[in-house]
Amino acid sequence: MITIEALGVSEGLVKAKAFVLREPDLSVTKQKVEDVAAEQARVDAAIQTAKQQIEGILEEAGQTLGDEAEIFEAHLMMIEDQDFIDGMKDIIAGEGVCAEYACKVNCDNFQEMFRAMDDEYMQARAADIGDISMRVLKVLKGVSDNPIDTIVEPCIIVANDLTPSDTAKVGTKPVMGFITQIGGRTSHSAIMARSMGLPAAAGAGEQARIIENGDFILLDGCTGEIIVNPAKEDEDEFDRKKAKFDEQRRMLETYRNQKGATSDGHRIIIEGNIGTPADAVRVDEMGGEGVGLFRSEFLFMDRPDLPAEDEQFEAYKQAAETMTDRPVIIRTLDIGGDKEVPALALEKEQNPFLGYRAIRICLDREELFLTQLRALLRASAFGDIRIMFPMISSLEEVLDAKAMVEKAKEQLRAEGKDFNNDIKIGIMIEIPVAAVCADILAKEVDFFSIGTNDLIQYSCAVDRINDKISSLYRPLHPGVLRLIKMAADAAKANGIECGVCGEMAGSRGMASVLCGLGVTNLSMSASSILAAKSDLAHHTYEECVTLANSLLGGVSATENESNMG
Ligand code: PEP
Ligand code: MG
Repeated sequence: MITIEALGVSEGLVKAKAFVLREPDLSVTKQKVEDVAAEQARVDAAIQTAKQQIEGILEEAGQTLGDEAEIFEAHLMMIEDQDFIDGMKDIIAGEGVCAEYACKVNCDNFQEMFRAMDDEYMQARAADIGDISMRVLKVLKGVSDNPIDTIVEPCIIVANDLTPSDTAKVGTKPVMGFITQIGGRTSHSAIMARSMGLPAAAGAGEQARIIENGDFILLDGCTGEIIVNPAKEDEDEFDRKKAKFDEQRRMLETYRNQKGATSDGHRIIIEGNIGTPADAVRVDEMGGEGVGLFRSEFLFMDRPDLPAEDEQFEAYKQAAETMTDRPVIIRTLDIGGDKEVPALALEKEQNPFLGYRAIRICLDREELFLTQLRALLRASAFGDIRIMFPMISSLEEVLDAKAMVEKAKEQLRAEGKDFNNDIKIGIMIEIPVAAVCADILAKEVDFFSIGTNDLIQYSCAVDRINDKISSLYRPLHPGVLRLIKMAADAAKANGIECGVCGEMAGSRGMASVLCGLGVTNLSMSASSILAAKSDLAHHTYEECVTLANSLLGGVSATENESNMG
């Protein structure tokens, strides 16, 4: 039996066999070959197999793929392109090298060619070349296409990390939970685990490498403890803990249909965070009073092209219709940092979290931003959609972004398309200067939403995905609490709402603290909604304020953490 201490990132206890997703070895070395013709024949065979794989995807999932089908159809055309195939064969003949190496060089050549083109659409095709070359390389190296497709029995996935499309696949398989080697509470696979209600542990590190396929695993997503091949008494102990946890969950059910409020009736609106429109269904089921954060960038990730206006419109409309008349705050594209959008082919940066990202990209690329704003506005005719801008650091950005909304409105008006002219516009407070200048910004917007994930990262100067320094990432740092209070006070003085949509909102015991700091809305993963309502219902407003004040007066995160127990 082996115990691994990871970070509990999505609550719940499960036991099942491990399904290990090891990163396939796709490294390529330049190996000389004698038989050039045989090597070129390997290319032909790999192209055929790759082609069949794509045809298989289209045949199997053609109906459900929607616009994604077009991507695979484009891949099919590209993979059959004679120049693409000859490129590889010529490298083999010219340099006498193996097919794997030729595949890589050919991919680099084609990508360079596409990236050098003037047309933005053609530049984005570089990502497709990367995708199809990777498919061919996997065939050449005998690596299976996506092992998650092969899951048929209940299991716990063990992986280095999971991409959003892996995580989406997980939802269609009998997966009971997952363990990742990297990441923490705010990594995107953890966020998705919580919205799917699957227990998960992250940051298991190198230790997770000892887990083999088929090992029996006990996973505690609350504490992050992982027991591999347990002894009988450990499994019995785990079963007792699980029964207790499940009982507590059942007791929380009473809050499902209650509104968020302290025991003496001070209202706090409890909402859910979503990444796809389908996630809104769970928020609704768990008694969410709205969607406080729709991370729209999830629609843009893990695909080689950009979603068109109509596709975005359908997604936003679907979320609004699921939540009927409740508010749905949709955040405009927040990419960069740890979130990549292949179609934008952004350059790698030294400091991605401080770089060209989110609103900075949108204000720089008018077409991209206008397309999204038009889709959001059109969807606002179908529910209470609100627009939120991420990564705001200055008044100018707010004014420029609002001007773009006006421009999108004018276009739609001219085209006779419906939208809500009074759509509410808010900003994320996640950069310390925005919190400090909240009194200035509050005059320009209808609401604030504090993004504590980034606010903590930037104010404490702690990379939120670097597990080596995760002990320095402290939500209860008095400096972080002061910044939250500044934003909440400025919102109140200007008569606007101030929510929190970072992970802190859904962390145990934090609802009462944030209520005491003056926050009016809390938005979190669907699985945290009931516990947050329960936390509030167990305190009077006065108790929340006293608790918040005592933490604000704390001298350190350590002192505050020990006072919270
Ligand atoms: C945040 O920063 O707190 C937030 C909610 O946004 P994200 O985690 O997507 O950066
Ligand atoms: Mg953020």
